[in-house]
Amino acid sequence: MMRKIRFLLALWLGKCARLALRALRRNATFFPGVVALKICPDFLGQVDKPENIIAVTGTNGKTTVSNLIADVLTDRGHRVLSNRLGSNVAAGIATTLLYGSSLFGKTRYETAVLEIDERSSKRIYPYLTPKWLVVTNLFRDSVMRNAHPEYIANFISQAIPRKTKLVLNADDLISSRIAPENDRVYFAVDRMETDVVECINLINDLQICPTCSGELQYDYRRYHHIGRAHCRDCDFKSPEAHYFATDVDTTDMTMTVTDKQGGRVVYPLLSDSVFNIYNVVTVAAAMREFGLTHEEISESLGKTKIVETRFNARQAGNVRVVMQMSKDKNALAGSRAFDYVSQLPGEKEIILMMNCLADQKNWSENTTWLYDCDFEFLAREGISRIVCTGPRAKDYYLRLLLAGVPEERLRCTLSELDAPELLEYRPGESVCLFYGTDALDLVYKVQAKIVECAEEAAAR
Ligand SMILES: [Zn+2]
Repeated sequence: MMRKIRFLLALWLGKCARLALRALRRNATFFPGVVALKICPDFLGQVDKPENIIAVTGTNGKTTVSNLIADVLTDRGHRVLSNRLGSNVAAGIATTLLYGSSLFGKTRYETAVLEIDERSSKRIYPYLTPKWLVVTNLFRDSVMRNAHPEYIANFISQAIPRKTKLVLNADDLISSRIAPENDRVYFAVDRMETDVVECINLINDLQICPTCSGELQYDYRRYHHIGRAHCRDCDFKSPEAHYFATDVDTTDMTMTVTDKQGGRVVYPLLSDSVFNIYNVVTVAAAMREFGLTHEEISESLGKTKIVETRFNARQAGNVRVVMQMSKDKNALAGSRAFDYVSQLPGEKEIILMMNCLADQKNWSENTTWLYDCDFEFLAREGISRIVCTGPRAKDYYLRLLLAGVPEERLRCTLSELDAPELLEYRPGESVCLFYGTDALDLVYKVQAKIVECAEEAAAR
């Protein structure tokens, strides 16, 4: 009885906190859950949950994939509870579930899509059994918090309930091996023209066979440890995919997904980056498992678009202004973004402000990620100028010199708002801003300044 009273008290006070914050026009996606968990530590266990929970985790792409899944389900007429505007740690999940409950703790939803932070696994999964867990990939990320990807993989394996069905990336031999006893399906992307055999990236986190420690031979490799591999000394190899993306056509922006049951449907591509090719096949696999048909998924995906804060391009004056989100500390995301932007057609000028921390007093991360990230891609031909800016401007500058970028292409200023003035805005080129998410207000100011400078240059 006491337990029930404590739970209801947590629920009501959490709901009150949410209403109060909303009335003050504050973000109410984290604190109400903190209140609920403080009063009732097993709140997540006691609160009634939707029957169909799709959890999405992984180093890269989990936000985009969860948003796309929620969009597809909503488009198909499902009422979906999600944490899309909020936090993906235990307090954020508690906030989402308390919002989705009646005053007596009964859920008002049948379906939930929850993005879950990998490191929060042990604080969430013991209380909540997802019907499906989608894992996008696991890479080295924020080493001070996450250590090594194998460590994170073990973390998830130990926490995830045995009943949960896994939707895994067959091309990632780290995340595809989690929780081996659980029922599972795999997705993968067929060999692509740009694939290689030898690793050209600095990070290569899986080099030996996880079974016998023998030499791992890659049949092809997309980047880092992503690709298909087999062991030379034992029968270990990449798993076969149940959902397989083929015929990727970045001109028509389509690809085909085939599945083991013989289904074969053309899907729209939302962007031509490899990450987004994975996002589409991941959503297709998860939604087939949920019970939608390929045709339904493809049609609904066609109506969605990538959240604009990640990548967008617009014309200003005589140049194309490209906004590319690339969080600091995540070396792999940086490598992918550098590779992608360096291969855009035409000349490029670049501003690097991945660390745009408003509050430098609380700065705690070290800079090792800069030396895991392939800044070497920015030494490619076609990049005429790079401006390093923000609190880590000098660190970028040094890293770019070490990467072989000629000094005459580099500029450096600590003040972000001065950076746009150091570019040339030559007609036809692209101006690319790489930015982090810690101070988006500042990012938008810099973007506005770039547009202003580009228009001035065009008027000259
Ligand atoms: Zn082996």
